[in-house]
Amino acid sequence: MTVEPCLIIDGQARATAARFDVINPATGVAFATCPQAGAEDLDDAVAAARRAFPTWAATPIEDRAARLLAIADAVEARKAEIIRLLSTEQGKPMAGGAAGEVGAAIMWTRFTAGLRPEVELIQDDATARIELHRRPLGVVASITPWNHPVLIAVWHILPALLAGNCVVIKPSSYTPLSTLLLVEIAAALLPPGVLNVVTGEGAMGQAISGHPGIDKIVFTGSTPTGRRIMANAAGNLKRLTLELGGNDAAIILPDADVDVVAPKIFAKAFGNSGQTCAALKRLYVHDSLHDALAGKLADLARAAKLGPGDDPESQFGPVQNRAQFDRVCELAADAKARGGRFLAGGEPLSGPGYFFPLSVVVDVTDGMRVVDEEQFGPILPVIRYHDVEDALARANAGENGLGGSVWSSDVAAATALAQRLICGTAWVNDHASLSPAAPFGGAKQSGIGVEFGLHGLQEYQQVQVLRVAR
Ligand code: NAD
Repeated sequence: MTVEPCLIIDGQARATAARFDVINPATGVAFATCPQAGAEDLDDAVAAARRAFPTWAATPIEDRAARLLAIADAVEARKAEIIRLLSTEQGKPMAGGAAGEVGAAIMWTRFTAGLRPEVELIQDDATARIELHRRPLGVVASITPWNHPVLIAVWHILPALLAGNCVVIKPSSYTPLSTLLLVEIAAALLPPGVLNVVTGEGAMGQAISGHPGIDKIVFTGSTPTGRRIMANAAGNLKRLTLELGGNDAAIILPDADVDVVAPKIFAKAFGNSGQTCAALKRLYVHDSLHDALAGKLADLARAAKLGPGDDPESQFGPVQNRAQFDRVCELAADAKARGGRFLAGGEPLSGPGYFFPLSVVVDVTDGMRVVDEEQFGPILPVIRYHDVEDALARANAGENGLGGSVWSSDVAAATALAQRLICGTAWVNDHASLSPAAPFGGAKQSGIGVEFGLHGLQEYQQVQVLRVAR
């Protein structure tokens, strides 16, 4: 990375007068500073992207794809550096989470480079030949969250570029540095202005979503912020892809094998310390299995090793920031006050950093905050049910609809039930597994549009019908 992390605008590193602290969540102490972009930096980034757009859009897709592959190679060559930075600012263990995230980012980049939109033939007869083409939109702005900053940046930037757009990205102010490094690496392989990065908090996000020079916003973050972006983007009818919050339910049918499903459910609920949009966040367990499964999950939670990201023994890191840590503590206290019983965890750890133990709580139900609200942290509520139709109704209640799952030894029965979940992805005997070929997005207020594969690519394109008269 450049000596001090810089913005990248029009292919140039740009220092700023103002800088803000970046906190290591394992210590709660600042370990670096980040340039703070201003309104002029944003205007310059958008203007550079607009200037670069006509040439980039006219560049053959094979050439654009070759640049994407070169970016994947360059990121791979510097992955140790990115992994360390990601782990330090985000908190996830280097060996597991951070290496996994950077590896997935490289894999996703290579897969995306292979996508090719096809021209669709609509009609070809004596009156006309009608074809459906897809054109790039122009300048795409990406706004990303702090939970998987490198991977989500790749999910936004690479398909936008492949489709022929130019990009301005703004990472979360909690985890900006790994994105600055990623953009520094990628922008060096692209014409000036094709990829730019600015920084800042909500006010910068607000300025981006209202900016008249931006044609589309791709946003991953919370539902309330998504609503603000949508309202603010109306001025020039920006296209939107919104990947928002989730409160995914899993339903465990009475014939599930507790020994088989327990470790899988544990991994899908607590991966990244629960800070994943499509993590399993509400576990509905049939009465007959409830105590056995909750007990096994609690055993696994107690055995987990929490620690700083640079300790090779650490399996799970801290909560990423103070505000989220306080929220997790609040949800745990509320659950206890309302009769919830923690079989594991339930209290923040003493000592430095934002460590909250992996926690399993029973005797909780719908109507309590820990069940109704997205925890986005390491607490799993286990909810007893008797009647599967009632469990399904509860799983489908609420404003979220990102993902959901059904677990059973009877795959056909589980598959039938999974299709009645109101959500963007329904898993059977799995949860939160994503593939670069399969569209991913939310139902209800978990989002608008999808990412990944050809369906995801189309979100960065405008349909153009070409009609040639005969
Ligand atoms: P957040 O909404 O607080 O912030 C996300 C980004 O938006 C940050 O870059 C932030 O600076 C920016 N922002 C804040 N206010 C803004 C405004 N008014 N206008 C424009 N931008 C603004 O979300 P977070 O706390 O960083 O991330 C956690 C949330 O993200 C959770 O709800 C989680 O479920 C969701 N998430 C969803 C997905 C998905 O794919 N559906 C993936 C990851 C995270």
